[in-house]
Amino acid sequence: MHDCSPRAFVEADLDAITHNLHVAQQAAPGCQIIAVVKANAYGHGLEQVVRRLDDEHPAFFGVANIEEARRVQAAGCATRPFLLGPNIPEERETIAASNWGFTISSVEEADHFASLAVGAQRVLPVHLALDTGMGREGFLPADLGAVMEHMKHLPSLRVEGVMSHMPVADEDEVFSREQIELFERCVSEVALHAQLHYIHLAASAGLLRYNIPCANTVRPGLMLYGISPVPCAWASQLRPTLRLRAAVTLVRTLPANHGISYGRCFISARPVRVATIGIGYADGWRRHLSGKQAFALIRGVRCPLLGRVTMDQIMADVSAVPGVAAGDFAELIGSSLRVEQLAAQAGTIPWDILTGLGPRLPRLSGSLAHVSQ
Ligand SMILES: *Cc1c(COP(=O)(O)O)cnc(C)c1O
Repeated sequence: MHDCSPRAFVEADLDAITHNLHVAQQAAPGCQIIAVVKANAYGHGLEQVVRRLDDEHPAFFGVANIEEARRVQAAGCATRPFLLGPNIPEERETIAASNWGFTISSVEEADHFASLAVGAQRVLPVHLALDTGMGREGFLPADLGAVMEHMKHLPSLRVEGVMSHMPVADEDEVFSREQIELFERCVSEVALHAQLHYIHLAASAGLLRYNIPCANTVRPGLMLYGISPVPCAWASQLRPTLRLRAAVTLVRTLPANHGISYGRCFISARPVRVATIGIGYADGWRRHLSGKQAFALIRGVRCPLLGRVTMDQIMADVSAVPGVAAGDFAELIGSSLRVEQLAAQAGTIPWDILTGLGPRLPRLSGSLAHVSQ
């Protein structure tokens, strides 16, 4: 048996991701960075991304769960994982025995982690999560006085960070400015009782759009992957980081009046040269892209996709491209076929498109600068 190249695959441009991290650093001068790599580094392949970004010495790698934290650790990174959300009781012993960053959002979590820390004879550094408007995790600002009082009785926990999250950084400036002020007041209150090393509120949109003087840490995710969630001066500095390619598996000419794909939603008006491409919704190529004038780039030409997306295959009109043959590669996402555009066509957001790219796609690395065939 000899090796075959995969039929459909993702290539991550690790240089571009590094460049985008530098842009985040410039956009949030003086801030430490929690480089968010959850969800397989937004589809780019967790291990290869963290191995590269580790050289940039971020404060943490932001992850969603223990499994991702373990993968960061197993990749041999010096940078520690940071669990961005709350953790269930059965996960906490593992966390207390690790050197991962984590948050607490309730007295129950604080008490549990404190007793685990006592058992492990350690003092555990924690980040207090505050709910300043997201409604997803964190202590309520009104309870903060009582919480800090309670923390005094938990000497096995050391509050080294305060964090919160912005629900409308990309759409409501009035709310966001008020939220920043509220966060600032909370930080001052916590700072009376704790030596704070990490004060963080902003993800990509927040850091690109707002100056948050009390913060010293930011949590960029999407922008590392070349996409700005808000129009801003930095957007043009970001480089695209992901290419999605799939093989043409068959090329035929179909006569006029021939249906293409399920539902026969597309009927050829005239004879059409059709390439079948080996990728489908099971790979994360969204079924919602059916009939939305999405394209595949084949031999440098934008070829309209025809008919519904099927589980493993899609069809493209290659009538305008001479010589297309099975084994050619079609580019579906790349520097000229942007995730932002696809997200709009599929009626969703770029985060959803990237993180929806499936496990069937191998994650390779490569420069997006070279011209695709
Ligand atoms: C996912 C996440 C981020 C990153 O958000 P982007 O919008 O992708 O930059 C930051 N902080 C928290 C708490 C998150 O869950």
